[in-house]
Amino acid sequence: MKEHKAPIAECLVKEIAKPAKDSVSEVVRSGDLVSYCAEEGVRILGEGKFLVSDSFPGNDRTKYCLTSKIPLGVVLAIPPFNYPVNLAVSKIAPALIAGNSLVLKPPTQGAVAALHMVHCFHLAGFPKGLIGCVTGKGSEIGDFLTMHPGVNCISFTGGDTGIAISRKAGMIPLQMELGGKDACIILEDADLDLAAANIIKGGFSYSGQRCTAVKVVLVMESVADTLVEKVKAKVAKLTVGSPEDNCDITPVVTESSANFIEGLVMDAKQKGATFCQEYKREGNLIWPLLLDNVRPDMRIAWEEPFGPVLPVIRISSVEEGIHHCNASNFGLQGCVFTRDINKSILVSDAMETGTVQINSAPARGPDHFPFQGLKDSGIGSQGITNSINMMTKIKSTVINLPTPSYTMG
Ligand code: NAP
Repeated sequence: MKEHKAPIAECLVKEIAKPAKDSVSEVVRSGDLVSYCAEEGVRILGEGKFLVSDSFPGNDRTKYCLTSKIPLGVVLAIPPFNYPVNLAVSKIAPALIAGNSLVLKPPTQGAVAALHMVHCFHLAGFPKGLIGCVTGKGSEIGDFLTMHPGVNCISFTGGDTGIAISRKAGMIPLQMELGGKDACIILEDADLDLAAANIIKGGFSYSGQRCTAVKVVLVMESVADTLVEKVKAKVAKLTVGSPEDNCDITPVVTESSANFIEGLVMDAKQKGATFCQEYKREGNLIWPLLLDNVRPDMRIAWEEPFGPVLPVIRISSVEEGIHHCNASNFGLQGCVFTRDINKSILVSDAMETGTVQINSAPARGPDHFPFQGLKDSGIGSQGITNSINMMTKIKSTVINLPTPSYTMG
């Protein structure tokens, strides 16, 4: 995969307008993920358990139980448009090392990159038929695949579609990585330069089209003016243009996404948010926009824009910030900036999200860390080890021995 990174990355640039440098990183990261998974899988799958019956009340030592991990069968992998290669590989590699076969349904935008990536597995010598790739619009072929009786597990990453799939899927293991409204809580004692740099990276990388993007900033009123000024200065430096030129902000994935983002911006405008920059759009290209003084009655306080638009809500207490975060239907990640380690742990414990980052923007990687969403953000946990375990079943063999009265003579 690393040898073929150039043509795969080129597809990502053309299909989903991912900046060229980030496209190459996505492919390289995916190659590393395969290698790590192969090593980790060998160890995980080599482990089993041995249990004896007399440790449970009322039992003699007459049963030995041996457990091992066995494959599920066919795993259906459905990644989203924003990481068509990496989020496909994060399903393919654990599925294969665990002994499963796999059907990949790539996102329509990103399908060509995914086909090139699958070709690498074939070039590497994987038997034909072990990995199948079925292209087509999810709205047309999705039900056929997700409700197919031959599918033994679904690993899906995307938006609300995942909630509908989990209602329709049968009695099979599901791994759902869905949307998020990751909050960034800034306390009074925070390093505001560090926070501003992370808000820019977290909020605007790949034009905000990341599940773990910072999607709302909750800042203590006493430091809000300073923070907003620092973030504003950095927004002014973001480059806007084409992915081939490695611009920071590139066109969002579809016209309907751009229209959706514009709807959130207009709603905020009508309800009195402060625009730190002028709103500007050309086709699917939306200039980065920071919205200050956002209030809970605005849609952008709750909805996931999936674009380069970031709301700031001023709070008067940490509790208010946590309350806002926990009132969301989402629970993917969150982050807190403070110099007080004790406070950061208390905030982390109180936030209803799968992960809390202390003094850094939310992020999915490194890929062996556990990654999970609470509430509408998902089912199950991924990360290399968790995904391998999730794509196996436990099989027991019980050896029954004679009763204690049996004599060996
Ligand atoms: P999406 O519209 O839900 O699509 C995700 C995938 O599902 C695509 O491959 C899509 O195919 C397919 N699909 C659509 N309808 C389907 C159906 N009825 N049955 C089966 N599959 C169907 O999401 P997206 O717009 O690609 O991605 C953005 C969303 O993903 C955001 O909400 C983001 O937060 C979330 N996300 C979450 C994570 C995470 O790890 N939690 C990571 C990245 C992204 P088509 O392209 O053909 O429609």
